Amino acid sequence: MELRALKGTKDIFGDEMRKWLEVEEIIRGLCDDFGFNQIRTPMFEYTDLFARGVGETTDIVNKEMYSFVDKGENRITLKPESTAAVVRAFLEHSMYADTQPTKLYYISPTFRYERPQAGRQRQFHQFGVEMFGTDSATADAEIIAIGHTLLKRLGIKKVELHINSLGGPECRKKYNETLKAFLHSKKEHLCPLCQERMDKNPLRVLDCKNKECQEHLKEAPTVLSTLGDECKAHFNQLQELLTAMNIPFIVDPGIVRGLDYYTKTVFEFISNDIGAQGTVCGGGRYDKLVDEIGGKHVPAVGFGAGMERLIIVRDAENNAPLAPATRDIFIGYRGDAAMVEAFKLVNSLRQVGISAESDHLQRSIKAQMKYANKIGARYSIIIGESELEERSLKLKEMESGNEVTIPMDQFVEAFKNILG
Ligand code: ATP
Ligand code: MG
Repeated sequence: MELRALKGTKDIFGDEMRKWLEVEEIIRGLCDDFGFNQIRTPMFEYTDLFARGVGETTDIVNKEMYSFVDKGENRITLKPESTAAVVRAFLEHSMYADTQPTKLYYISPTFRYERPQAGRQRQFHQFGVEMFGTDSATADAEIIAIGHTLLKRLGIKKVELHINSLGGPECRKKYNETLKAFLHSKKEHLCPLCQERMDKNPLRVLDCKNKECQEHLKEAPTVLSTLGDECKAHFNQLQELLTAMNIPFIVDPGIVRGLDYYTKTVFEFISNDIGAQGTVCGGGRYDKLVDEIGGKHVPAVGFGAGMERLIIVRDAENNAPLAPATRDIFIGYRGDAAMVEAFKLVNSLRQVGISAESDHLQRSIKAQMKYANKIGARYSIIIGESELEERSLKLKEMESGNEVTIPMDQFVEAFKNILG
């Protein structure tokens, strides 16, 4: 057996893990400030949910899903995105019957069979938010504001917000016709996949990653030109809100997103710091998805952000160096009697929320102090024969070398006071 994680998957541990915990902490605080509650849905769902939700003509459903048949003959897929799963949960638990809007967020492993490269894995993680039960542009603005605030709190500056509107079904139908005519005029220049998709799902063609296709698609008519009055008003109102909220944006008709379910607003936060995999966060409004999945008209808007990419961009901008790991105290010992005392004290300190360590490897005193430095202990004590006899301990501040003597039976209280 090969002792290697599968291609496109990664172990997260050590300093990398600490970065993740930091980012997750920031996300929890952020969602709390915006009034979003966490939801955890299962790692797999019926394949049909994604086929129907994400769309049969998307890359995700066509090429990227991890699907299998389980022992009960169920067709199952590891979630390639979480929105369809959250919609399923929203419907299953009748969340629409509660006071609206319903505001949910998740941080979830996500699975796509893709060619692994920097910022592109087969198991990656998404932080996402969804707001159900309102078609107001204020909801679009609030969702975008979460993304904007997140990047700000992560210290990520070199990122642009691109917004676009895909219109509602009416404008979309009109646009599809205009677009189809244009695509046919360029047919011989487009890749086989684009040629295949141009009739079934012309919008998808605009999202093609092929450079030559992109070159020929530059003069494509934009959906903005075919927006009806209501969609236009919605898009204008969103822009007005973003401006008022001090959130800079660029109107970019090239943003069409890789999923079928979007209507009206779509947006991406794009970093130019990390090359091709520059989209750290993408989302939009999906007023038809709940209906398509569960036959209920509930408008909604949300986004998904790649955790790995957020962390890569944050590192690239390097404005949040990881604080060194620290412990409050290391308690060393010499001899078996002192060892018992040391572990008793370590345990007592931990009970009151003080981070304390001792030695598990029967090291020499010198090696124990080296270990204390390595784990970033702020204070240390060594328990030896004389300390046991006198029932008093010398607390040393590691950085200054200053020492104070504290009676052993008052140590926990006294040290707690010193830490403040
Ligand atoms: P891309 O165009 O880069 O393939 P996408 O349009 O497929 O992205 P979404 O489905 O909108 O991406 O997912 C939202 C976010 O999840 C992306 O903006 C990105 O940050 C992240 N993401 C998507 N696929 C991967 C992946 N394979 N590995 C790591 N992160 C990913
Ligand atoms: Mg993709």
